Amino acid sequence: MTNCPIAVVGASAAGITAAEALRRAGWDGPLILIGDEPHLPYDRPPLSKQLLHGAWEPAKLMLRTEEQLAPLGLDLRLGTRATALDAATRTLTLDGGEHLACAGVIIATGVAARTLPAAEGLTGVFTLRTLDDALALRDRLSGGPRRLVVVGNGVLGCEAAAVARELGHDVALVGREPVPMAAAVGAGIGELLAEEHRARGVRLLTGEVAAFETTGNATDATGATDAADATDGPAAQVTGVRLADGTVLPADLVLLAIGSEPAVGWLADPALDTTDGLGCDAYCAAAPGIYAAGDVARWEHPVHGRPLRFEHRMNATEQAMAAARNLVAELTAETAEAAAEAAEGAEPPERRPFAPVPYFWSDQYGLKLQAYGLTAGADEVETTVLDRDARRAVALYGRAGRAVGVLACALPPRQIRALRAVVATPVPWEEARDRVREATATAVG
Ligand SMILES: Cc1cc2nc3c(=O)[nH]c(=O)nc-3n(C[C@H](O)[C@H](O)[C@H](O)COP(=O)(O)OP(=O)(O)OC[C@H]3O[C@@H](n4cnc5c(N)ncnc54)[C@H](O)[C@@H]3O)c2cc1C
Repeated sequence: MTNCPIAVVGASAAGITAAEALRRAGWDGPLILIGDEPHLPYDRPPLSKQLLHGAWEPAKLMLRTEEQLAPLGLDLRLGTRATALDAATRTLTLDGGEHLACAGVIIATGVAARTLPAAEGLTGVFTLRTLDDALALRDRLSGGPRRLVVVGNGVLGCEAAAVARELGHDVALVGREPVPMAAAVGAGIGELLAEEHRARGVRLLTGEVAAFETTGNATDATGATDAADATDGPAAQVTGVRLADGTVLPADLVLLAIGSEPAVGWLADPALDTTDGLGCDAYCAAAPGIYAAGDVARWEHPVHGRPLRFEHRMNATEQAMAAARNLVAELTAETAEAAAEAAEGAEPPERRPFAPVPYFWSDQYGLKLQAYGLTAGADEVETTVLDRDARRAVALYGRAGRAVGVLACALPPRQIRALRAVVATPVPWEEARDRVREATATAVG
């Protein structure tokens, strides 16, 4: 088609999937995969599960081996950051100053862990987004029992708290939400999770971090220190977390699991909408020849009729395939080849809207949560606890009179498949409720 490359920025789940899908869709021109981490693409969900636990080593997380990558004929640039994109000319700038004029670009830069100014430079405070983050935390958890305070009771905080408890550490889980994961899955499932965490010995608190206690001084959450004579010296070690209500939680280690920021800071071109991720149309296109996929992409979901952005592993794969297919279709249509094919009556490939049934899962202790559709932002939630001791439950989520999401906790695969079908397209609330009851009525084997 052209000698200009397609560049995929972000060498993780979405990035590597996009590269493979571009080849499958017929892109045989130059293909560059750019990632700022030094590692080959790896899988993130095990970071807060098997890897943190010590059950898996990093090699098991790698999404592809070098041998598997070879047939793609990739120009793989690891340890390289994209610093700018000119949307009109599709020109990328890399951190070494190189400019790449591209035929097309797929942006798959994901999100970065949010942090607190007060945590800057403090020893013993961690985030958990990258392999290096997870290995550093795992290392500190391997040296005998520790007091760990997990700040943030969303999915990541809950998973890390569960693993740390299983490893025998003293764990406090503190967050803004009254029960774990309430914003994502509602109060009913959140209460069930709270029961499980408490039963396992995790101390649950609701609150806001006001300051970190340290070996030197206390620093408030904005990063200001309360000691008049604070001097530069060795990094202070965290010794506790002070909450806004005055409660002090002693800590050897603190994990900040307070959400994430889409990695769009490098995209300053005003032609691109970077409010809450990179804004795209229903085809995952942010501008002509520029597509996005995975955690960074906010796109117009054609079924739900509003912009959505998911930080879910399955979405990274599915959206990368859609974006790659659509980019190749657009480039094909742009070329003279397309005109020739059209003259011979051959149909050029068509772009297709990306309309998945969203899916995510979470593992905490032996419990598996699996959700289809939309669970956050519901205006109606019905949670049915099928077996309290086994924490077996189902929840249905609705918006404006229609069912839009469903969640299964500790249910067998057969029932989960039936639940997915209920929300594959939004249906009236009453109808969905009947179908959920039917799907979960049979005895669990
Ligand atoms: C600890 C953890 C546990 C998780 N568990 C689950 C789970 O149980 N279930 C679930 O559904 N999802 C889970 N997720 C979410 C899932 O891992 C993500 O949805 C998925 O990794 C998104 O893939 P991505 O490729 O879009 O982004 P990422 O995996 O974030 O990859 C983006 C890559 O781009 C790189 N990058 C950023 N900016 C630039 C730049 N300017 N130039 C070059 N490279 C750049 C980043 O360093 C990164 O390597 C979990 C995530 C984490 C962190």
